Amino acid sequence: MNAPVETPIGFLDLPQQQSLIANEIRQRVDAVMQHCRFVMGPEVAELEGRLATYSGAGQCVGVSSGTDAIQIVLMAEGIGAGDAVFLPAFTYTATAEVPLVLGATPVFVDVDPATFQIDPASLRTRIADVRKAGKLRPRAVIGVDLFGQPAPWAELRAIAAEEKLFLMADCAQAFGATLDGRKLGREAVATTLSFFPSKPLGAYGDAGGILTDDPERAELYRSLRTHGEGKTRYEVLRTGMNARLDTIQAAILLAKLGVFDIELERRREIAAAYDRGLAGHVIPPARVPHSNGSWSVYSVLTEGEAARTALQERLKGHDIASAIYYPRPLHLQPAYRASHDGAPLPVAEDLSRRIMALPLHPELSDNDVGRVIAAVRKA
Ligand SMILES: *Cc1c(COP(=O)(O)O)cnc(C)c1O
Repeated sequence: MNAPVETPIGFLDLPQQQSLIANEIRQRVDAVMQHCRFVMGPEVAELEGRLATYSGAGQCVGVSSGTDAIQIVLMAEGIGAGDAVFLPAFTYTATAEVPLVLGATPVFVDVDPATFQIDPASLRTRIADVRKAGKLRPRAVIGVDLFGQPAPWAELRAIAAEEKLFLMADCAQAFGATLDGRKLGREAVATTLSFFPSKPLGAYGDAGGILTDDPERAELYRSLRTHGEGKTRYEVLRTGMNARLDTIQAAILLAKLGVFDIELERRREIAAAYDRGLAGHVIPPARVPHSNGSWSVYSVLTEGEAARTALQERLKGHDIASAIYYPRPLHLQPAYRASHDGAPLPVAEDLSRRIMALPLHPELSDNDVGRVIAAVRKA
């Protein structure tokens, strides 16, 4: 007897998602094609208003990507040569790249072995390391809400206040997540968002945003995203960027916001099903207390590198995709090695050998979820 043919389970299913909201998206894009205000059209301000309301933040500034959002926030603080910016070693490269682009130095911090979030104890150690070495000025901390769960914000705020450091949130992976019953977006002075297509709220190209409760900073961010302009277009107040949010991307995001909460609910259901189904076979991600994640990534831990390779092979045999975020912690990447002081970051190094992400997107059916669980349990 032939085994039943099973459809592949991919990491994302954007065509399926598109089919559900195709009409809304077409109407929104058609409207842009009618008015032709492709740069800073009315959809940009409309989206900014919606995102501010959604997150509870006072202001939202739409920008061209999550990476540009981080750059604008750090530029606004005047961060540059001689400054140390503390950030987790276990995150996407964009978080570390921006300080270097600005001439500052990323200082890598270890992470928690169960939640994968930045470890406050390691942050304290790393700040002390930098102060002791006396070469760099500690200036800022970037907390990252990794894989859709919140960073330990209360501890990060306490450390930043004590050490007089600027605190920002790289929330590229966690828009829609909650901590203590409130949406992420107000945990730090500024929160950056990414709407890259694979993030929980994804555009059809690059897009990002900055949330803040500080109206003066929001004005500065608006100036920086448009070449540092002042009240009029040809008044140049400061060195800025061309980092505006495209009108068409804003239009698409407005359509997608309409189903975002339903998608988040589905992501949470799948994460809970994985937690129940996988415990005892692999180590599911520990839940950050008092939070509700957006589950942009669902990563489990295997016993070791060989077990991970075997599990990936088995899943592949069942036509189930998997991925590794991140196969190398940033302090060991060629691009960042030279700026690292050599401190060992054992948890980030260990995670990079054992971590593995399973497919988790709102289009997965219960049957798909069951197939993933069964394949992992068999391994
Ligand atoms: C995706 C991501 C970014 C960058 O966002 P882009 O929109 O791709 O520039 C930054 N930080 C983290 C943690 C990310 O996952």
